[in-house]
Parts: sequence; structure tokens; C-alpha cells
Amino acid sequence: FIVLGVETSCDDTGVGVVTSSGAILADSRHSQLAWHQKTGGVNPKVAGKLHREYLGSVMETALRDAGIKMKDVYAVAATVGPGLALSLEAGMDFTKKLVAKENKPFIPVHHMEAHALTACITHPVSFPFLVLLASGGHCILTVCEGPGKFLRLGECRDDAPGEAFDKIARALRLHTHPLVSDLSGGRAIEVLAKFGNPEKFPFPRAMSQRLDCMFSFSGIKTHTMRVITSQEANDPTGPHSPVLQCEDISAASLAAISRHLVTRTQRAILYCIEKWPTLNHLVVSGGVASNLYLRKKLEELASYYGYHFSCPEPSLCTDNGVMIAWAGIEHIKAGLPLMKDLSTLKFIPKWRLGKDISNVVADER
Ligand code: ATP
Ligand code: FE
Repeated sequence: FIVLGVETSCDDTGVGVVTSSGAILADSRHSQLAWHQKTGGVNPKVAGKLHREYLGSVMETALRDAGIKMKDVYAVAATVGPGLALSLEAGMDFTKKLVAKENKPFIPVHHMEAHALTACITHPVSFPFLVLLASGGHCILTVCEGPGKFLRLGECRDDAPGEAFDKIARALRLHTHPLVSDLSGGRAIEVLAKFGNPEKFPFPRAMSQRLDCMFSFSGIKTHTMRVITSQEANDPTGPHSPVLQCEDISAASLAAISRHLVTRTQRAILYCIEKWPTLNHLVVSGGVASNLYLRKKLEELASYYGYHFSCPEPSLCTDNGVMIAWAGIEHIKAGLPLMKDLSTLKFIPKWRLGKDISNVVADER
């Protein structure tokens, strides 16, 4: 069977068409990056308006690319939360109309669950597995026991890693850098880091005293901001001059953020080895997981502990409609209920994933 997935939780409009056997028939997207770069961050009003403007054409493209009509679609899935209220509302309004007009069953999808399940489309991943979700708004270590069944070992106390990358990139004015101006903050830093020396600006370790699976990226971000300000003070010539050393600062901040992600994931693996003897798979997803440097570090970590490692291809790590369609398919396969009447359905801007067991992890380490 075929499921159509609609994603509008933040600043990417996505419609994906996927079959129950995991064939991706369409992955249609519209990115708002260029609009939001002008104002230095996602403006929720603009985001909602652009989703409403582009959803129709993004969906038409998806159906055309897939070579199907709505009558061939078995069910529709959409992101219900978490995310920006005005973005989610735009997606909900569109989907409600579509579902009513076409008389299709509906699957409400948690955006972070969709990120977590994406790896199952292209990799042989079976439940339970450990998953690190690192993205623009979240950082979560969780055990996935099945669709809708998540146990949270840890999450971030402050800025998410993608948010830290975006803020550092902004401070480095990478949106005006000739090499990387059209890329997201995290991707821009990944590209420039290749030309830099991470040892040039040593970074303190984040939360090294705490023995749990929680994350904090604000210290790394603040440290980077201080380095940038002190470099700029020496710099009479303006942005991107050799004095600012964008490449070295990018390399150092990427190394520091990755190191924190890797140490926390190591702790989670140690806990899982004790508690879930049958679990032997690390999955990594979310926008930040498209970073090849970080993926390599995490893959090395997993292999050290004899864990399998799976990460969706970089383009499926960032927001897209395919992952929403696939989460819908996983729900259907698991026998979770489909919705018919959407009149009472509300979007959920704040929605934690699964059950919190972070205390257990902290106590036992
Ligand atoms: P969330 O999933 O938490 O709701 P989101 O949906 O806005 O947040 P995603 O699309 O999943 O975020 O990820 C976007 C984030 O990923 C941005 O912060 C971006 O800078 C970061 N990112 C994208 N590519 C890379 C990369 N190659 N390296 C590091 N970070 C990256
Ligand atoms: Fe996301």
C-alpha cells in the first residue's frame, strides 16, 4: 500500500510518497531557507504563510513524480507536532481538507518519531534500537521499542546542536560567505571545517562532570561566540578576513559539538549493554546527523562496542515528507489506530517523545 506524508513543522514544506515495502516514490520539498536567512532566523509568521503558499504545488509535484493519483493512496500521514504553531497549523489545515475531500484514513505523526524511524526505510533495523536524534530543535537519546514506544534516556537542557551550529554560523556571517552562503548553518560549518584546524581554538568539554545522558550545547556556543568576538576585535578588515579564521573556528566548534554527542551516546550504549542485552543497534538521525564528520565518529563508537550503525542518507536526515509517510506506514504495520474524523484534531507545538527514564540512567552510572 501507498502512504502520502506531509511535513510542515518548521521551515521546510515536504510531501513524500512511500510504499509499505519502503520504495520512495516521491520526495518533493520546498525550502524556506533563503527567506529566513534575510532575517537571521525562522520567522514563524513568514514560515506559516509560505507553507500555505507552497503546499499545493509541493503535493502536485509529489504525485506527479510518483506517477500516481490520490485514489492510489491508502492513507495520509502528517506532522501534528512538535514544531512551530503557525507552521503546524498550516500543515493541519491543508491535510484536513485533503483527507476530507479524498475520504482517506489519517495517521497523526510525531516529528521526532519520524526522524527516528527514517533509518528503517533503507537499512535493516529491527526493534529495539538505540537512537540519537540531533537536529535544529532537539537532541534526544532514546530507546525505540517499536512505533509509538520510546524511552528517553536523555535530552538537551538548552540549545539543540543544530541551533548552536546555526547561531555560530550567523555570528561568523557565513550567510554572506561566498563558498557557503546558500547552505544551512550546520552544513556551512561542515564545509568550512574541512579547511580548518580544530586545535587552533581549544574548547572546554561540555558537562564532563555529569554522569548521565543529558546534553548541553550552550557552553560550547557561548565559548565560540567569545572566540569570534575576540578575533573580530583584532580585525580591521571586516567579515571572513584571515584574521577571523572562520575555517578554524568552524573546525573547532564542529569537533566540540561532535565530541559531546559522542560521549553522551557512549554512556547510553554502556547503559543499554547492561539493560538490553538483545539491543545491538545505534541509529542516528535528525538534520545534524547529515554531518559526515559526526557520522564517522558515531560509527566508530558503535563498532567499538560491537553495535550495528545506521544513519539515513544525509538528505533524509533533514526534514522531509518521506519520513512522515514512513512513520505512518510503521504505525499501520504495528496495528496502531487510523483516524477517520479529524474535526477535533489539534496540532501540538510542544510534545515530548515517549517516556522519560533519564533519572534511571543517571542513578546507575
Ligand atoms: P527538529 O527536528 O528538532 O524539530 P528541525 O526540524 O528544524 O528541528 P532538521 O531539519 O531536522 O531541524 O535539522 C535542521 C538543523 O540541522 C539545522 O539546525 C541545521 O543547521 C542542521 N544541519 C543541517 N545539515 C547539517 C550538517 N551537515 N551538519 C550539521 N548540522 C546540520
Ligand atoms: Fe526535524
